[in-house]
Amino acid sequence: MVRKFAEKKLVLATHNKGKLAEFRDMMNLPGVELVGAGDLNIPEPVEDGTTFFENCMIKAKAVSAASGLPCMADDSGLCVAALDGAPGVYSADWAGTPRDFKVAMQRVQDEVGAATDRSAAFVSTLILCWPDGQYETAEGHIEGTLVWPPRGTQGFGYDPMFLPEGERKTFGEMTLEEKKSFSHRARAWAALKAKAFSD
Ligand code: IMP
Repeated sequence: MVRKFAEKKLVLATHNKGKLAEFRDMMNLPGVELVGAGDLNIPEPVEDGTTFFENCMIKAKAVSAASGLPCMADDSGLCVAALDGAPGVYSADWAGTPRDFKVAMQRVQDEVGAATDRSAAFVSTLILCWPDGQYETAEGHIEGTLVWPPRGTQGFGYDPMFLPEGERKTFGEMTLEEKKSFSHRARAWAALKAKAFSD
């Protein structure tokens, strides 16, 4: 049976401020306090899974256990068809240390090279996990095309080189308001909300 969220506080298992802002804006759960794992000084676990689901579960379990609170974790990335789904779970790693997404976008562009197929998708997996280990999960994705050079200064990560299907603006040229109506995270959230946050 699907477990429903009935608590008053939820931890978001991310230290990424861009994502945290998107989640806070998108979730709209009246009466529920949303806190970031970083705000609770919970260390980031090592994400050594090979799928979005595995990495998401690593974060969800670590944060709900450390905080004793229900936690929602996300794992997401850019999957490029011509690169057999890369960078995928390694999307953040391609930006190096410290993160520089100009470097990551350049690498995607270089590796795609002259390939005619420039299709890609952003994928988001969400897991709502309770401290006892029980969880609910949902996934969302948005298909699009890679553009070069990157366009726009809004958003984060690979946003400036991603043109969603049927649109004229890249994610980097959209306001948060525009992006949230059809982003992969918004779609995953709509599915998880319908499943585990509604009566
Ligand atoms: P995660 O924090 O392990 O989920 O890493 C996800 C990485 O995928 C981010 O650091 C970004 O590089 C990339 N990514 C995920 N979602 C988006 C998005 O909406 N726009 C741009 N890049 C994204």
